[in-house]
This record gives sequence, structure tokens and C-alpha cells, in this order.
Amino acid sequence: MARQMPKPLVSLRGITKQFSNGTLAVRDVNLDIPQGEFLSLLGPSGCGKSTLLRMLAGLGAPSAGTIDWPTMEHDAAGRPMRDLGFVFQDPTLMPWQTAMGNVTMPLKLKGVGRSEAEARSAEALKMVGLAGFEKAYPRELSGGMKMRVSIARAIVTRPKILLMDEPFAALDEITRHKLNNDLLELWSGAGFTAVFVTHSVFESVYLSQRIVVMAARPGRIMADIAVGAPYPRDERFRTSADYAGWCRVASDKLKEAIGS
Ligand code: ADP
Repeated sequence: MARQMPKPLVSLRGITKQFSNGTLAVRDVNLDIPQGEFLSLLGPSGCGKSTLLRMLAGLGAPSAGTIDWPTMEHDAAGRPMRDLGFVFQDPTLMPWQTAMGNVTMPLKLKGVGRSEAEARSAEALKMVGLAGFEKAYPRELSGGMKMRVSIARAIVTRPKILLMDEPFAALDEITRHKLNNDLLELWSGAGFTAVFVTHSVFESVYLSQRIVVMAARPGRIMADIAVGAPYPRDERFRTSADYAGWCRVASDKLKEAIGS
């Protein structure tokens, strides 16, 4: 008897997005994302990565196709109650609130009481390496620390899926590498599914179990790479022949995508 495949967390079928000005941002994307996977969307600027991520978040509907969340709860109208966190390229913190004030916000919006919200936020800040910075204001924090607060705010509700839109693109290389390591540790500890948008081959290989390579005009999937390197991945992996080999595989696919 054939063994039943576990249900994916999210299933995209025939997803097309055309904006009202006529731009065909995404065409006929089919993708299943299993529970717990770390997946990167890799491609040149303008290939529809952000558009796809935003549609996963429910920010903008597809023009055609379906996005199903088979294991999520649905409301009375049959809409999925997407249990997700979103991290943008900019940390988008409220400058008048402390780190704690920023991280408690999603819990307050869900009606969680103050003491529980603060305890859970302190735990989330600790998980991103910011224990002791609860009372700091964004202006007192470095770029990397602000991004850590932004990640703490996204995970404080313990979402099933974390969507990240080039979150480390504006950071210096050393900070970026450190955040890559800390993100992998968070992911392996917390068990969420991760969808990470990047145009960096190196970052996508370092982080991901799977890289979906996209091409532009129209945005579409060109390759689906299973990165066979084991976890945990650390700085030794970053300088290994294995890493270099996977970077070449992804880079060749990206070149094909750009030239297509
Ligand atoms: P990426 O994230 O890969 O850089 P985007 O998803 O941001 O790509 O954009 C894909 C295409 O859709 C681009 O050509 C972009 O200019 C266009 N686009 C994105 N958002 C809008 C919008 N709101 N209205 C019109 N065109 C848009």
C-alpha cells in the first residue's frame, strides 16, 4: 500500500499575480512547502519574490490560482487563519517604544494580558540574544540589534511559519553572518517553517534545505534545489568544499534564470 505523504503546510497552485498597471509579477507558480522546512526564494531583483511572500502572508490576493493551508484553522467564512510572523528588510520598529514595547505589540493585539505578554516578550528577546536590552529604545540599538528586535516581535506569537523578506540585506557582512547563525539556531530550536527571500546565493545556501530559484519578466520558478548539506551548519561549513560546491550549483541555476 502506498504510504500517505504528510500534508504540506502550504500549497500554491497556478499562482499568477498581475498588478493593475499590467505588470505580470508572478506567473503560474506551483509550490508545496512542507512543515518545518527552511526554504529560500532566490532570484534577481524584480522576479516576484516579495510579491509571492506577501501573497503567502495574505497581503494582496493572487489574480489566479489558489493558496491552501491544509493544516491551519479556518474562520467561519472558510478563510485560513494564517499563523505567521513577517520580518521586513527594514526593522520597522516604533521609535517611541522600548524593545520590550515593540515585541509585546503583537501579543497585545491578540488580547494577551500585560504580565504574560511581558514574560513571553522577555523570552523572545532572550532567544534573539537581547536579554538585558528590554528597556532600550531603537535609537540606542545598532542595525543588527534592531533586526533582532524585529525577529523577536515576529516569533513572539510562536507562529507556524516565519516569512522573511531580505531581512539582513542592509547589514554589514560580519553582522549578517552572525544573524544567519542565530537564525538557524532559532529555527532548529523553535521548529517553525521558514521562507526566506534573498538575492544572495551564499546566504541561501548557508541557510536553506531547499532553494527555489526564480526568473523575472514574468516572475516564475526556474529550479528547485535540495541542498544536501547536514545541519548544524556553522562557520566551518561556510569555508568548506561542500558549501562551495552547493554555491556553484545555485549560482549556475541563477545564471540560467537571469539569462532566460
Ligand atoms: P522582487 O522581490 O523579486 O525584487 P517584486 O515582487 O518586488 O520582486 O516585484 C516583481 C515585479 O512586480 C516588479 O516588476 C515590480 O516592479 C512589480 N511590482 C511590485 N509591486 C507592484 C505594485 N504594487 N504595483 C505594480 N507593480 C508592482
